[in-house]
Amino acid sequence: MEQFEALWAFQAEDIKADAIANAIKRSPTRQKLEKARDFILDRQKQYKQIENEITAMVDRKDIIEQAVARSSSQLEALKARFVSNPPQSPEEVKALLSEVSRCRDTIRQYEAEIARIVRESTSHDKQQHVVRMEAANAKKSFDQLKAEYEKESQSRKAELDEQRAKARALQDAVDPALLEEYNTIKRHISPPVARLTHGQCSGCNTSLPSAVLSRIKNGALVECETCGRMIIQ
Ligand SMILES: [Zn+2]
Repeated sequence: MEQFEALWAFQAEDIKADAIANAIKRSPTRQKLEKARDFILDRQKQYKQIENEITAMVDRKDIIEQAVARSSSQLEALKARFVSNPPQSPEEVKALLSEVSRCRDTIRQYEAEIARIVRESTSHDKQQHVVRMEAANAKKSFDQLKAEYEKESQSRKAELDEQRAKARALQDAVDPALLEEYNTIKRHISPPVARLTHGQCSGCNTSLPSAVLSRIKNGALVECETCGRMIIQ
């Protein structure tokens, strides 16, 4: 019983400390700070993505340039064959010409693709520049906000430290196993301990069966089946 009272006293101060910590977290400056951080992270991701796309373009351009070189030497070979071994019949002339035209078409297609890649990578470069500028500006406002937030939270932090110390002093009187239970419940619901009032759990107002009531009255550790809080008398 005494243990439960010690826990109850500790909870009162512990919850006050949490309220201060939450107020610090909910500060508008902190929220702006988090937004600025998310913005920077997003721009960094975008930058990396553009960079990957540019790398892929450069690789593709290399491959196409090699293909152009191959088609060009093929074309040269055809021309040389025309000189050294001129076609003898109209069919041979036709066949050779169609081979030449196929080769030229291929080169033209490749060159068009290279031009497209060059255009795209130029626009990617510009985009990357914009993203970098945006990230740099966001970093500036992030730093400003951070300084502001640190200044603002300094006094609140002192208050929080004081309240945490108050809670810690009471915590020492609580049985470690009970404290562990308290912390486990607190991960799901806070405050984790509720009083029994008029046969109900005061945390969720559920009426408790008489068997449970007598266990509580006998000083057993009972958790509410509805809200999960520890119920004490
Ligand atoms: Zn309950």
